[in-house]
Amino acid sequence: MSITDISSDVVNRLTAVRYRIAKAAMSVGRDSSSITLVAVSKFHSRESILEAVKADQYIFGENRVQEATVKFSPIQTVIPDLRVHLIGSLQTNKVRDAIRIAHVIESLDRPALAEALDRAAQAEGYLPDLLVQVNTGNEPQKHGVPLEEADCFIDVCCRRFGNKLRGLMCIPPIGVDPIPHFVMLRKLAQTHGLEMLSMGMSADFEQAIIHGATHVRIGSAIFGARSNP
Ligand SMILES: *Cc1c(COP(=O)(O)O)cnc(C)c1O
Repeated sequence: MSITDISSDVVNRLTAVRYRIAKAAMSVGRDSSSITLVAVSKFHSRESILEAVKADQYIFGENRVQEATVKFSPIQTVIPDLRVHLIGSLQTNKVRDAIRIAHVIESLDRPALAEALDRAAQAEGYLPDLLVQVNTGNEPQKHGVPLEEADCFIDVCCRRFGNKLRGLMCIPPIGVDPIPHFVMLRKLAQTHGLEMLSMGMSADFEQAIIHGATHVRIGSAIFGARSNP
């Protein structure tokens, strides 16, 4: 496959995804400009990212701080409008690097991480926007604050971070109907007066939009299958 094939693939898929987002939004009378597409580029090359940028995609999601830094800091120096969302579980010893590369951290899920972010933000003089990740399925192996602790943890984060705490994120369990999870997350956000709702991936973003997502995190539908390490 030649480079031109790869590039037209990314652009074509991106166009198709944008169309589907607009259609899902329209089906519930939402303006598609109220939905932000976060293109999840984990495990994909800088070349693929630049193809997406050429098609005016400026918001990207990455799971790992190290990978995000290596891939995005050179691009950000030439394209300052580029935005990186960190969407993977974050270790406390990586928060300073995380703050340097991220505009949004979507995976705030425990008191020790909140503490570390607060300290790092004071040292760096900058704090990205923050989303609390909720483990809506209460899956033991999954990250995110357990559902029964979510209210309390969100309150604590609101007090600590003020309006830097912007919203909530969830990853529904695999193989179940995601809609109850989307509904739950939306209610929780409403209860706490938070406006950002990051939910919906390649397999279910239309349902997420119908149920109020403001941010959809889409990887494989744009960049193709990942070869997981
Ligand atoms: C990988 C990943 C995505 C994107 O998944 P796709 O199914 O490829 O769209 C979204 N959110 C998180 C947290 C991820 O880790």
